[in-house]
Amino acid sequence: MTSFNVAGLLHEPPGLTRDVRLRDHYLNLGTDVELAGPLDADLRFHRTNRGIIMRGELRAPLRRTCARCTDSYVEDVRVAVNEEFLPTLDPETGAPLQLEEGEDAAALRIDEHNEIQLDEIFHDELALTEPMHPLCRPDCPGLCVECGERADVGDHTHGGPEIDPRLAGLAVLLKDRNGDGS
Ligand SMILES: [Zn+2]
Ligand SMILES: [Zn+2]
Repeated sequence: MTSFNVAGLLHEPPGLTRDVRLRDHYLNLGTDVELAGPLDADLRFHRTNRGIIMRGELRAPLRRTCARCTDSYVEDVRVAVNEEFLPTLDPETGAPLQLEEGEDAAALRIDEHNEIQLDEIFHDELALTEPMHPLCRPDCPGLCVECGERADVGDHTHGGPEIDPRLAGLAVLLKDRNGDGS
């Protein structure tokens, strides 16, 4: 789990910031966001009059499956993060805070230990980068419809209209025989 304790920052006046740098940070974000290696993050936490705003950037290598050739490949993703977290407890008194109806009720929360849990944020931000049709490369030719192998590897004429010149003579012979038989 990746978390950041904001107890100190919650006692600071609005406007103050803390910077957090994560480097080569290994974590598991579940099966739908498969990390091919560690992630980096540069995050700045701003104390506001309501809570904490986190802004910054996340960089991670994500393993994807090509929609055309089904090979797996790694895409280096860079995504901006910008989230607001509201306290669960009053920083001064420790009393539970009642949030207003509507938008505030759906806000991300700083938990009762003054921690901001980052894994879920990382997961959601990275999941949003998944393209509708992931491609291992923009011109991926996909799979051969005849044999199902990668279309860019090997020969895929499979006896179509184009005939290997070395077999052209045989093709003429076969055509003649078929012609005789009908
Ligand atoms: Zn592909
Ligand atoms: Zn083929």
